[in-house]
Amino acid sequence: MPGESGLNSRLKLMKSYIKDELRKTYEAGLRRTFIDIEGAQGPRVTVNGRSLLHFSSNDYLTLASDPRLIEAANAATVEFGAGSGASRLVSGNMTPHMALEERLKAFKGTEAVLLFNSGYQANTGVIPVLAGRGDDIFSDRLNHASIIDGIAISRARLSRYPHRDTGALERLLKASTARRKLIITDGVFSMDGTVAPLGDIAELAEKYGAFIYIDDAHGTGVLGAKGRGVVEEAGVDASRTLQMGTLGKALGSFGAFVAGSAGLIELIKNRARSFIFSTSLPPGACGASTAAIDIVESEPERRAAVRENAAYLRKSLLESGFETGESTTQIIPVIIGDAKRVMVMSKKLFKRGFLVQGIRPPTVAKGTERLRITTMSAHTREDINQLANALTEVFNEVTGE
Ligand SMILES: *Cc1c(COP(=O)(O)O)cnc(C)c1O
Repeated sequence: MPGESGLNSRLKLMKSYIKDELRKTYEAGLRRTFIDIEGAQGPRVTVNGRSLLHFSSNDYLTLASDPRLIEAANAATVEFGAGSGASRLVSGNMTPHMALEERLKAFKGTEAVLLFNSGYQANTGVIPVLAGRGDDIFSDRLNHASIIDGIAISRARLSRYPHRDTGALERLLKASTARRKLIITDGVFSMDGTVAPLGDIAELAEKYGAFIYIDDAHGTGVLGAKGRGVVEEAGVDASRTLQMGTLGKALGSFGAFVAGSAGLIELIKNRARSFIFSTSLPPGACGASTAAIDIVESEPERRAAVRENAAYLRKSLLESGFETGESTTQIIPVIIGDAKRVMVMSKKLFKRGFLVQGIRPPTVAKGTERLRITTMSAHTREDINQLANALTEVFNEVTGE
C-alpha cells in the first residue's frame, strides 16, 4: 500500500496529465464540443432557440422524425417495454429482435442476419471472428475508425492500401502467403463520399481466394435500385461477402446488422464478443427500424431525392470553385486543409443559420480538414442554394478575398 503522500503525488500526476493533454488538444485547434439540438432531427433543427438548416446529419431519408417510426417505436415500447434486460444469448432475445432480423433478411436477400447494438460494435466484434493471428487483412486507408479498432483487436496482420487503389490491393494480395485473406472496405466512405470499387474488389477476391467484409453504414437505404446498399448498386455476387449495415443513419433509428451466409452468421453469434457481452437493443429501436425498412422499400423517391440534392449541391460547389474531392454520393466534403480555419468557417455558417460540422484529425488526415456536408431527402433546392451562397461568402471572409 502506498503511503498518503505517494497517493497524493500520483493524483497530482494524473491531474497534470489531464491538464497537459487538454492544453495540447486546444492549441492544435482540436477541441471537440457539443451542439445542443433542442428538438427532433430533420432538415431544420433548433439550437439555442434558433432554427438552422441542417447539413450535418446522416438521417439521409429524413426518417428519424417520421411519424411512422415514432408510432412503431411507441407501439413496441408499450407492448415489450423500454429495455431488454440482458444480452440476446442470456434472456434479452425478444420478439422485436426476431421480427427485425426476419425483415432485414428479406430486405437484403441473404441467408441470415444478426443484429448488433451499433455499427461500431459490429466492426469490433465481427472482424476478430473473420480473421485472427496468422491471417492477412487488406484494408482501405480511408476505412472507418471502428474498422481500424476491429482489426487491432483481431491481431491479424494488417496491410493498408491507398484509397480505392485496386492495383495496390492486387500487389498485396499476390504477395500474401496467409491461409486466410480478408479484404475490408467501407461501401460509401464516411468522410469523402466516395464508393468502393466493389466489382474490381470482388474479382480480386475470387482470383486470390480472399473474403470481403463491407461496411455499408452510409449505403444502406440510399444506394441500389431497392435501397439495399452498395452491393446491390455494384451488382456483385454477395456470396463471398459479409455486409454490415447500420440502422441509425439512413434508417433513422439505432443499431446495426450483419448479413451473410447462415454458417457465418451462426459463427458470429457464437464468437463475436461485442454481441455476446452486451445488452441487446431496446424493443422500441427494433420497432422503428422494422418500420423504416418498409418505408425504404415503398418510397424509393426518398433515396432519389437524397442523390438528386447531392448532385445539385456538388455542381453548384464546383461552379463556385470549391474542392469536393471525388464524392459521388450524399456525403460531400469541402476540403479546406486547416483545422482552425475549418472551425472558423463552421462557426460563421452557424451564425448565418446553417449547421455544417468541421471535420479534423484524427477523423481525417492532417491537411485534409474539411466541412462535411450531407444532403437529406427533405432539403429543398432553395435550402441548397442558400447553403452554396453562404459557403462562398464565408470562404471569402476567412481568406480575406
Ligand atoms: C457511423 C459509422 C459506423 C458506426 O456505426 P454506428 O451505428 O454509428 O456505431 C461504422 N462504419 C462507418 C463507415 C460509419 O460511418
